[in-house]
Amino acid sequence: MSNNIKEDLQLFNELINTFLEDEQSNPISESISPSEVFDILDITLNNSPAIDADFQLALKDLLLKSPKSSSKLFFNQLFGGRHSKAVLGDLLAVFLNNSMATYKIAGPQVAVEKEILSQVYSLIGFDENAGGTFPTGGSMSNFMSLVMARDKVNLEIMDKGINEKLIAYTSENSHYSIAKNASFTGIGRDNVRYIKSDEQGRISIKELNQQVEKDITNGFVPFYINATAGTTVLCAFDNVKELAPICKKHNIWLHLDGAFGGSVIFSDKYKHLVKGINESDSFCFNAHKTLGAPLSTSILVVKDKHDLYNSFNNDATYLYQTHDEDFNLGQTSFECGRRNNALKFWTMWKAIGTNGIAKIVEHEFSLSDTARKYVNSNSDYTLYSFKDSLSVCFNYKDFDPEDLCTKLYESNTLMVGFGHFHENRFVRLVTINGENTHEDLKHFFNVLEKFANENADSIKRIS
Ligand SMILES: *Cc1c(COP(=O)(O)O)cnc(C)c1O
Repeated sequence: MSNNIKEDLQLFNELINTFLEDEQSNPISESISPSEVFDILDITLNNSPAIDADFQLALKDLLLKSPKSSSKLFFNQLFGGRHSKAVLGDLLAVFLNNSMATYKIAGPQVAVEKEILSQVYSLIGFDENAGGTFPTGGSMSNFMSLVMARDKVNLEIMDKGINEKLIAYTSENSHYSIAKNASFTGIGRDNVRYIKSDEQGRISIKELNQQVEKDITNGFVPFYINATAGTTVLCAFDNVKELAPICKKHNIWLHLDGAFGGSVIFSDKYKHLVKGINESDSFCFNAHKTLGAPLSTSILVVKDKHDLYNSFNNDATYLYQTHDEDFNLGQTSFECGRRNNALKFWTMWKAIGTNGIAKIVEHEFSLSDTARKYVNSNSDYTLYSFKDSLSVCFNYKDFDPEDLCTKLYESNTLMVGFGHFHENRFVRLVTINGENTHEDLKHFFNVLEKFANENADSIKRIS
């Protein structure tokens, strides 16, 4: 088989056209169980090459039978939809195949990344001392912030290991990457304090204060507080404004994990949810979650670029042969060879402007308002979430949320997940697809209700 880019681009176009048509008529792909997947699809690799026809058929099948994460019935994850301009940028990045490590190999793509970062600094009130990078995702952004906070306690930790009794704080509702990152950084999972949240899922400032004071009394060194802008289940926003003085008082690094909800920085109407963000030491958000950019588009910014440089720079004379560290981005990144994840966000931003991004964010909040209103005004439903959130958590009648969501998936009807908060378990609808309309949301509820009622006998009930 030939290695011919022009031919394969033609094939690409054909496949994508088929896929897009299929996405309209079959928004949920037929679910295939792991035990059958190798039998149903032609996935096995062989010693000899495939013939053209088989190859094309295998590809088409694989495409059409993969979960359709951009369809109108996909609400399962915190990403969804696809902004065409972002997809265009990402395809171009694949073609260019620059690595973002140095200016010599990435050239103007470095400027593309720097322009996005500097726009973000000014949106959140960081000055020209700020730094930033595009890590592989929110988990990695959080990891990098923890490394910087650790090294800031004592730069010798990088060479000698940790001798201090370091303690990190986060809410009970924060992302699971915090625990993993504590392990990776040598802090240790047991040295993360999970602080209780209030009834709306925000970290309790009072409990946090008490725990910090107690730890200091016991000879520990509080060094890192992770606040969340949009907790993964409820999409609650921790109060950064009230956390900042605690951090200042005890010299604690304040990180704001906005992987889910951080894109509110674009909207004049919703940026109050991260009030005080300019007082944080680092902040991240995922454009691949709420803004329709392909996975992954995660942005980490740091108030003082020296912190990023101190923790992630390492001499490498075989790599850094021209230009200075300001344009050799590898000196402030985790990876060496690094994919260009900036171009897709730049193409989108350039095409629709900052105002266009704000509109996406505001539209998603208005979708969640519509959904909450629907749930609230219908006595068959119980609502568990709050205003100013992109998560709408509910139960329908007394159907067990886990069983309902699983059966919706197994019957190829609807993809939506479930979650829990304190003692309640519920269905979690997320309005993170800016391409959805208010009608699409109505359709979601209609599909769910129809399925639940038609299968009422087989779906478990909440006891
Ligand atoms: C999704 C999420 C993350 C992880 O982001 P990835 O890009 O999936 O690694 C971190 N924090 C929060 C609050 C999230 O919702």
